[in-house]
Amino acid sequence: MMQYPMFIDGKDHSPLGREWFSTDNPYLGTPWAQIAKGGADDVDAAVTAAHRAFTAGPWPELTASQRGALLRRLGDVLAENAQRLAELETRDNGKLYAEMFTQVSYLPQWFYYYGGLADKIEGTVLPLDKKGYFSYTKKEPIGVVGIITPWNSPLMLLTWKLAPALAAGCTVVIKPSEFTSASTIELVRLFDEAGVPPGVINVVTGFGADVGSPLVEHPLIRKISFTGSDGTGRFIGAAAAKDFKHVSLELGGKSPNIVFADADLDAAVNGVVSGIFAATGQTCLAGSRLLVQRTIHDEFVGRVVELAKSARMGDPREETTQVGPVTTVPQYRKVLDYIEVAKAEGAQVVLGGGPADRPECGNGWFVEPTIFTGVDNSMRIAQEEVFGPVLAVIPFDDEDDAVAIANDGRYGLAAGVWTSDIGRSFRMADRIRSGTVWVNTYRAVSYLAPFGGFKDSGIGRENGIAAVEEYLENKTVWINT
Ligand code: NAD
Repeated sequence: MMQYPMFIDGKDHSPLGREWFSTDNPYLGTPWAQIAKGGADDVDAAVTAAHRAFTAGPWPELTASQRGALLRRLGDVLAENAQRLAELETRDNGKLYAEMFTQVSYLPQWFYYYGGLADKIEGTVLPLDKKGYFSYTKKEPIGVVGIITPWNSPLMLLTWKLAPALAAGCTVVIKPSEFTSASTIELVRLFDEAGVPPGVINVVTGFGADVGSPLVEHPLIRKISFTGSDGTGRFIGAAAAKDFKHVSLELGGKSPNIVFADADLDAAVNGVVSGIFAATGQTCLAGSRLLVQRTIHDEFVGRVVELAKSARMGDPREETTQVGPVTTVPQYRKVLDYIEVAKAEGAQVVLGGGPADRPECGNGWFVEPTIFTGVDNSMRIAQEEVFGPVLAVIPFDDEDDAVAIANDGRYGLAAGVWTSDIGRSFRMADRIRSGTVWVNTYRAVSYLAPFGGFKDSGIGRENGIAAVEEYLENKTVWINT
């Protein structure tokens, strides 16, 4: 079976005692490769290498323009290998190949964009209120960054962090999810061949407690950039606070898709169905609550059910497949548990409601697209992140009611609003407490558009110019003239 060692200081790095763990193909339900099981020693070796690369050697000697040129080269390398990397993502996390190819093919834009930004990071000259001084500010890279990623979109969520971190001049140690490490290792090897100096990008694979915790606690790490669950985010925030490390936390969501009676209902049906069932609901921004105006509730829910019912499940490599398996066994069990919780709470199943037992699903970990009506926003199915193909439908009466329900929860990652009233679009966008509001669309992301959460959905923003600031320190210089 294929083996993936770690990557530290420009070299493959096997674990001490040569321990490995297997990574599975969620469609076949079988292991396909072995991943090095890292520990605190490996974290220390990687952070030490990253710190050395940050302070000495070719990396800090590069001008910002040279760093930018290197990033653009990395974008080219990613583009040239998009097909292979997308195949790897599909094998490891079970998401549709078509979606992964589209996603990975878009990622070079982050390297081009942040490559272009690298030499536009400027300071200011201060118009001082004191005579006899010259004072200016400058921005410096924050130091060694620990990047911790989840399993749902490994390369995309890595790129959102890695490209701005490198543009800022930082060095990094990456800890990918134990469920989907292979594509990260392949990408970093490709970047090494493309000329990234040793120690600038390191990967330590393994489990949260063995690798994630020592990384967060390592004294030479100055920032943690994390995407994952809010439970782990809370732990990381607390651990990082002990020695004042900076943190960016991109956490979970329970995003409302809000459909008014005046909306283009054809568009809204498509937006609602793809908003929750694309990627088998395993996206942080999944529109997992459907808030629908009471006057159109029955008609609209009927149309959503009809469309969702027609979704073709099966092999994620096939072009015709629309819903793939759940990525991990624990996640599969969690989704099924939540379905039982919703039933016990009194919600009514109008579609699905259990594991998918269809011949085209083979031995994979498939759950039927599931829709619950009769949901009250106080139920667990409306408050907690399922991270699977489960939609909770809640009726509302008017704008005030929709806003109250949308904001009644601890998350605030994203929201969708479907209406043909332009004034209502602006009012809703103002009143919803979330990092992104989409009007008459859903799931759009761009390297140009900041993304992140309010409330328990996190701290900090990725994408756009502001993201590079997350990897910079500000320095003020006073010169007595
Ligand atoms: P998770 O929190 O279980 O794991 C994420 C990463 O943290 C993994 O690499 C894991 O090994 C590591 N980890 C676990 N324990 C750790 C510890 N004690 N210290 C340091 N690291 C530790 O999340 P997951 O199940 O992999 O991913 C799903 C979650 O990610 C969902 O909640 C989803 O909403 C969220 N997510 C958020 C975004 C966003 O941009 N806001 C995007 C995608 C996914």
